[in-house]
Amino acid sequence: MMALAHRKFDSSTIVIASHNAGKVREINDLLKPYGVKAISAEELNLPEPEETGTTFIANAELKAHAAAEASGFPALADDSGLCVTALNGDPGIYSARWGGPAKDFHVAMEKVTKALDHLDTDDRSAHFICALCLAWPDGYKETFEGAVHGDLAWPPRGEKGFGYDPIFVPQGHDITFGEMEPDAKHAMSHRADAFQQLIDACFNA
Ligand code: IMP
Repeated sequence: MMALAHRKFDSSTIVIASHNAGKVREINDLLKPYGVKAISAEELNLPEPEETGTTFIANAELKAHAAAEASGFPALADDSGLCVTALNGDPGIYSARWGGPAKDFHVAMEKVTKALDHLDTDDRSAHFICALCLAWPDGYKETFEGAVHGDLAWPPRGEKGFGYDPIFVPQGHDITFGEMEPDAKHAMSHRADAFQQLIDACFNA
């Protein structure tokens, strides 16, 4: 079978199209071995486009295109979120918005657990999804999607990570992403999964 052709990344600079400090930190860690200088959209004062897409992929694409066009550099955007099985995939693409205007993730985690408590189910399964889009200033793009499966815990545990990490226990483990060392999370997360696909397609010869 013929392998699909992907455009190789050959710039020394990449813009991380995110204003979320937790994500920027994780993407920077993941990019470190490739010797690429990463600048965040916030450092460049780029505006945050409205996430009008109805899928993780559509939102990653619109953020990456906006940053590539505005900066003149290739831009990498991540759109990600927590999908809870018993909540029909919510909060999903609205994961950030469940934290309210203050983006308070204690509020968001409580909202998830309360929504589950209202249902007649013991199903606490959930997964994180991460869509990554690498867009070039000429409008070309490469897009990948990764996932990690697990179960939700309550109360929240751990101060590491960000967002919903303190209530997510990945399959095969008994600690939350919030309790896990960053390197351990990077070895199994939805972001690492999507990132590996991006590296294989666009960075490795
Ligand atoms: P986005 O900026 O619209 O993609 O927002 C994604 C939201 O999903 C984040 O603000 C977090 O609430 C949540 N999220 C995504 N990835 C993770 C993760 O690795 N850990 C915890 N929460 C995450």
